[in-house]
Amino acid sequence: MGKAKRPSARSIVAIVVALLLPLAPIDSSHAVPKRKIVRAKPKPNAKLAPEKCEPANFRIVVDVGHTAESPGADSARNDPEFAFNLRLARLIATKLKSEGFSTTRLLVTEGRARPSLFKRVNAANDWRADLFLSIHHDAVPDKFLEEWEFEGARSHFSDRFSGHSLFVSRQNPRYAASLAFARLLGRELKAQDLTYAQQYTLPLMGRYRHDLLDKEFGVYRYDQLVVLSRTKSAAVLLEAGSIINRDEEMAMNSPERQEVIATAVAGAMKEFCEKH
Ligand SMILES: [Zn+2]
Repeated sequence: MGKAKRPSARSIVAIVVALLLPLAPIDSSHAVPKRKIVRAKPKPNAKLAPEKCEPANFRIVVDVGHTAESPGADSARNDPEFAFNLRLARLIATKLKSEGFSTTRLLVTEGRARPSLFKRVNAANDWRADLFLSIHHDAVPDKFLEEWEFEGARSHFSDRFSGHSLFVSRQNPRYAASLAFARLLGRELKAQDLTYAQQYTLPLMGRYRHDLLDKEFGVYRYDQLVVLSRTKSAAVLLEAGSIINRDEEMAMNSPERQEVIATAVAGAMKEFCEKH
């Protein structure tokens, strides 16, 4: 069989396709067989979810709560909260990177407490973070403190409350996403048999009282918190556990507990990344 002199049906299709091509989006669809180009339809969710979360490009800030100069609460054994936060946040950032979230940034801030909050927010916003996670360890209002002696030093503790807790702000522009991540993290922590701190709904907590948004996974509402309300990205604050509770302080010092929490964060992040 020789070459046909007249244009074949196939070459007519090719010409039509060539004319249509400039209208097609500039993407890899140009490489698919011609019949498929002609039939291609936009994905129904294309407008709702234009960007798929790629872990390597997902910009996570792991914020170390407090500063060396203004180190937060004292533990029952007189260690500063900042040291607990730094150690756990480092582990979480390392874990996230090892799980493919290579654009994770550990944020350590210097200086006095209040200005440091705005430094954190500015750093996260300037960096165009996708998710901001602030790491803290919990204590109690002063009225609950009891005295004891630890290594010869007068010290304070309260064994009355324990557990982790999660906070989100309704003032955050990505409130729904913040709540979604907090729930995922709360679920991961619950799956590790950890119990969240229940006292924040109680009247005796006074100005530390908060609405419980998720009863199952321990997510509270804390609208005014600077790092949650002023960040443009989704933002969640994790109180990883109480260091004023003598038993829980020891647990928070254990590499096993730290590993459990870091693993929970990485697990929640994977699920969040798949859905947002
Ligand atoms: Zn704190």
